[in-house]
Amino acid sequence: MTVTTGTLYIISAPSGAGKTSLVKALVDSEAQIRVSVSHTTRAMRPGEVDGVNYHFVSREQFTAMLEHSDFLEHAQVFDNLYGTSQKWVEQTLADGYDLILEIDWQGAQQVRRLMPQSKSIFILPPTQEALRHRLTNRGQDSGEIIERRMHEAVSEMSHYVEYDYILINDDFAHALTDLKAIFRANQLLQQVQQQRHAGLLSELLV
Ligand code: GDP
Ligand code: ADP
Ligand code: 5GP
Repeated sequence: MTVTTGTLYIISAPSGAGKTSLVKALVDSEAQIRVSVSHTTRAMRPGEVDGVNYHFVSREQFTAMLEHSDFLEHAQVFDNLYGTSQKWVEQTLADGYDLILEIDWQGAQQVRRLMPQSKSIFILPPTQEALRHRLTNRGQDSGEIIERRMHEAVSEMSHYVEYDYILINDDFAHALTDLKAIFRANQLLQQVQQQRHAGLLSELLV
């Protein structure tokens, strides 16, 4: 049996840049790509579903998972704790799926150290005003939380230099096309194609 292993992608962006919307549109159209559902201690937003957007847990549950070394990476962002399940990541990659982690720059640094073959993408908003508009229009955070997120955006964005790819989410359709191009190009890399088409290659080379 051929063993295929998917590629791990890290996607970061300041809150409101459009990371979740772009990733959802990508995953909805590509059967081979999965997205990791993080654990968080943040309060659930209106419309969010436990187990779909996040696994919503208490601080006590999060700390217990940390003590059991359940997380591949974890970080504190805006006073909340966020973490990625190690077991789920390993299983999904072993099943041959490409896997996206939507995590902040601190988590990205941890994952890069552990999995240097991973690819990372940073999403930027076209302007600071657009970012504020999107956070406001999303209508899910209080004015105080929006101000806090705007304040953190500049320090989050200063980490763009650590990423392999930079995407500017001005026109949504254009940004989605660019995101798909990154995934497609990586699927066509020689090492990846060698794994995926091992049977064909051995037939062609007799
Ligand atoms: P949103 O990005 O505005 O939708 O707000 P969230 O509360 O959903 O996420 C806040 C920040 O936490 C974002 O920068 C996410 O990338 C980050 N984040 C979410 N899940 C994880 C995780 O599992 N690990 C780490 N390190 N960061 C995460
Ligand atoms: P993030 O996950 O990075 O916090 P979201 O995906 O929740 O961001 O997007 C924040 C808000 O901006 C949402 O209301 C979303 O519909 C909107 N949005 C995303 N991309 C664009 C875009 N290119 N143009 C206008 N609005 C956008
Ligand atoms: P290009 O124009 O070279 O194809 O895209 C450059 C970057 O700009 C891409 O990351 C793309 O996502 C982003 N982009 C998408 N739409 C627009 C737009 O309408 N205006 C600008 N300035 N950039 C855009």
